Amino acid sequence: MGIDTTCIHGGYQAGNGEPRCLPIYLSTTFHYDTTDAVANLFDHPEQGHMYSRITNPTCAAVEEKIAALEGGAAAMLTSSGQMASFLTVANLCKAGDHCVVSSAIYGGTINLFTTTLPKFGITTTFVSPRATKEEIAAAIRPETKLVFGEVVANPALAVLDLETFASAAHEAGLPLVVDNTFPTPVLCRPIEWGADIVVHSTTKYMDGHAIIVGGVIVDSGKFDWAASGRFPDFTEPDESYHGTIYTRDYGKIAFIMKARMQLMRDFGVNPPATNAFILNETLETLALRMRRHTSTAQKVAEYLEARPEVDSVNFPGLKSNSYHELANKYLPDGPCGVISFVVGDGKGSKGGSRDRAAAVLDHLKLVSQEVHVADSQTCALHPATSTHRQLTDEQLLAAGIYPGMIRLSCGLEDPKDILSDLEQAFAALA
Ligand code: PLP
Repeated sequence: MGIDTTCIHGGYQAGNGEPRCLPIYLSTTFHYDTTDAVANLFDHPEQGHMYSRITNPTCAAVEEKIAALEGGAAAMLTSSGQMASFLTVANLCKAGDHCVVSSAIYGGTINLFTTTLPKFGITTTFVSPRATKEEIAAAIRPETKLVFGEVVANPALAVLDLETFASAAHEAGLPLVVDNTFPTPVLCRPIEWGADIVVHSTTKYMDGHAIIVGGVIVDSGKFDWAASGRFPDFTEPDESYHGTIYTRDYGKIAFIMKARMQLMRDFGVNPPATNAFILNETLETLALRMRRHTSTAQKVAEYLEARPEVDSVNFPGLKSNSYHELANKYLPDGPCGVISFVVGDGKGSKGGSRDRAAAVLDHLKLVSQEVHVADSQTCALHPATSTHRQLTDEQLLAAGIYPGMIRLSCGLEDPKDILSDLEQAFAALA
């Protein structure tokens, strides 16, 4: 099936006389006729549903759809994107283990690696998203368990060199984990470039209408946990689940089954079936929406680049962008709908003008100010006065967040209306 078809038909197809729409199975538990049937379920939890913290038929259909979209073997929905990243790390690491992570990732994920995971005894070495294979290899230690990066980073919009990161990871017997939230599988399928595990904040484009916080983990099914030699938890009996050996018993879906039977069981961070139902509906239009988001962003980025009030525009679809070549390679249909740009102070100061950026934002009528991206409605944010307001101008510059920077997430409105809203906001600066 083509990706547009998978968006609609993946995971659930009605049988004769069955509901056209994926049903919402609001049931915590499931009925069985015999003790043998229940015992069999404990031996083969992948063959049925026992309890909705572990699996639920509505969630399972959406998991199957997303796994198909990414070209993976299995997926597991989580309560948020943050939980998808955390469970992925927790499925691979224990206290004393170590991660190698691209420094261009979402701020919340940086916090996870720098603040929270060290409290569990898991440490991280950051490498540049432009790191060479040798630099990545130099950061890997005997206790390293994963290499992590974001395909298109929020908010830096850096494009990860997937093949370089994958080959450095694989040579060391490690899986490459990537966050593919911004491109979605419509614009990039990282498994085809060597990624082993893909995580998403479904809160962003997969939902796409600013309705529900959620996440998902997709297992490519391609990583050889036994051959790596670094993952005894995958190849030795799990005494907490009656001696299961994940690689032996689940083959290509060992990673997701281990995450489900150990971590979802213990943490209970499953989404409700109602959320999965809504995600299934929004996913039906994902391919259509992503093409529109990214083509509008291209038009808006080109418009902004020509504006005298704008000092610089960061969008990998622009020829002037330092990630343009990587974007052409991994994201030929466009990177995503998010742009950042710096409103100048007219004197050429490096960080642009905090006040003029705020003035542009305050004059916008259609575009709304929100702490969000990847939504059907175009929205914008001034990081210097919001997400990064605790930093001084000097600290902002060091973090690559200029005082005059605006983050703009292009929605699905008529691109002409977005451009004319920007036009009148710039006119108000004069
Ligand atoms: N990954 C990326 C790239 C994000 O942008 C975000 C949130 O903005 C997350 C992960 C975390 O997702 P959530 O907010 O669903 O927990």
